[in-house]
Amino acid sequence: MRLIILGAPGAGKGTQAEVLSKKLDIPTISTGEIIRNAIRQGTDLGKEAKQYIDRGLLVPDDVVIEIVKDRLTQDDCKNGFILDGFPRTVPQADALTKMGVTIDKVLSIEVAEEKIVERISGRRQCSKCGATYHIVYKPSKEENICDLCGGELIMRQDDAPETVKNRLKVYHEQTEPLKDYYQSKGLLVVAYGQEEVADTTKEVLKALGVV
Ligand SMILES: [Zn+2]
Repeated sequence: MRLIILGAPGAGKGTQAEVLSKKLDIPTISTGEIIRNAIRQGTDLGKEAKQYIDRGLLVPDDVVIEIVKDRLTQDDCKNGFILDGFPRTVPQADALTKMGVTIDKVLSIEVAEEKIVERISGRRQCSKCGATYHIVYKPSKEENICDLCGGELIMRQDDAPETVKNRLKVYHEQTEPLKDYYQSKGLLVVAYGQEEVADTTKEVLKALGVV
């Protein structure tokens, strides 16, 4: 299945993508994760992207499109993939079509805005290996210590409250129009985020028709 996951920041896209990736045996392509890795490694791409992300802005289309193009040509994408974080704008969606990429379904995960702020403020990420946690939904065994590598867990700069407000505004203005865009192509399915991750997963599988 070639799938796009949409949803506001904090809607649980990444978590559901992980579950679907295992269940369907296809890779998740998270442009955010690719970019954050580049930032940690201090590459040119990372340095360029950081200037935008720290201000709650989107990384420019041409940069992101190059990343996706490169990733989709890799072998593990042959049987499908899950795109998380791309496309984020209608021009990016058009670019995807121009690349000759066929999409089977577009899943939108819907969550109330006040829930989103609560969720994001609990996110933590390992400063060494990049593993993600949540103080309520996915806590590490030892507080602030990564289960995998023992690294220190930190709050991402772009999860800070002021930045989150900006990200939500940007989402409404630039990404939400994609729902209409894919609805008109008959590709959109909707799942409503629940309190428990497992319950959201049930909604997601139902929406996708995957049992
Ligand atoms: Zn770690």
